Amino acid sequence: MAYPLPVANVRLKNLTKQFDGVTAVDGVDLDVADREFMILLGPSGCGKSTLLRMIAGLEDPTEGEVYIGETMVNDVLPKDRDVAMVFQSYALYPHKTVQANIEFPLKVRKVDKVERAKSALAAAESLGLGEYMSRKPGALSGGQRQRVALARAIVRKPAVFCMDEPLSNLDAKLRGETRAELIALHQRLESTFIYVTHDQVEAMTMGNRIAVMSRGKIEQVGTPQDVYDRPASVFIAQFVGTPPMNILPAGSIETGKHLVGVRPEHVHISPEGSLAMTVTLVEQLGHELLVTGRVGERRVVVRQPAHSVVPEIGAEVRIVADAADLHRFDPVTELRIDI
Ligand code: ATP
Repeated sequence: MAYPLPVANVRLKNLTKQFDGVTAVDGVDLDVADREFMILLGPSGCGKSTLLRMIAGLEDPTEGEVYIGETMVNDVLPKDRDVAMVFQSYALYPHKTVQANIEFPLKVRKVDKVERAKSALAAAESLGLGEYMSRKPGALSGGQRQRVALARAIVRKPAVFCMDEPLSNLDAKLRGETRAELIALHQRLESTFIYVTHDQVEAMTMGNRIAVMSRGKIEQVGTPQDVYDRPASVFIAQFVGTPPMNILPAGSIETGKHLVGVRPEHVHISPEGSLAMTVTLVEQLGHELLVTGRVGERRVVVRQPAHSVVPEIGAEVRIVADAADLHRFDPVTELRIDI
């Protein structure tokens, strides 16, 4: 069942959080559109959870403002913000049944008992939990617990869902399935999702846009394809994409003073190649072959089609890339240069 949810855009202005001298979030400006699926992506410690917690009202900003729709919500309590938070740890009450867990946010809001039960069942059924209503969380699988946490968020009919690494406790297969469920849920609910992850596959597959964070700042905001095709810095080039983009020193692949980046799928092994690479590792993945080697001091990975000739470890091969596939970065700032 689809809920007639309120909708809202989220605007962050110069949002900053300091903890005892540590700047966790540093002057972040971000506009999340109404009904957008926005991913906050970055490595551990970059400040993404703190940013999300400030949006949900679980952390007070040191500076800056959070707007939901047209309203500045800095002084609005979390429960009054129209934001639901889903945590990695699920944060379910172990002694309450699935039904009581899902109903809890409505109970806090003093919703009538019959209405509560009806809404909880609708949310549970929309996530395939209808038959587990009388179980306790301890008698559920990790994936089912995560769905209870989602149902508890849905039941509030919030304008904004904030999710902090909700899939990281699930095994790889379940993570893949739950990813697909979340995409479907976003489409069904038509509400704004802000989703924190350090997993670039989640970011690429789920987000309408990705905001890539590093050391408390947002370094780039764009669609997944934009960020992959035109990374704004060496850091992003190597964080988004598996295996990461190869970065070669200035002068090695073309003349000039820029660092040169090239994705593994854009490097080819060819006798006419201009660069010599010493092979150090060959990984046969079935659908493709990854050949890793050294060019001078740099590690380079080449993605080859399945059934390509497998080079010997220690062999010297020649590699080549099309000029159109090269990315250039400033050697000092490591920021992208478009020429
Ligand atoms: P992770 O993926 O590991 O959760 P993150 O990107 O979500 O990382 P945050 O949890 O937002 O990062 O933390 C950002 C920085 O702020 C880190 O250096 C962290 O140690 C620090 N920090 C976070 N919470 C607190 C706190 N309550 N007190 C002091 N420092 C904190």
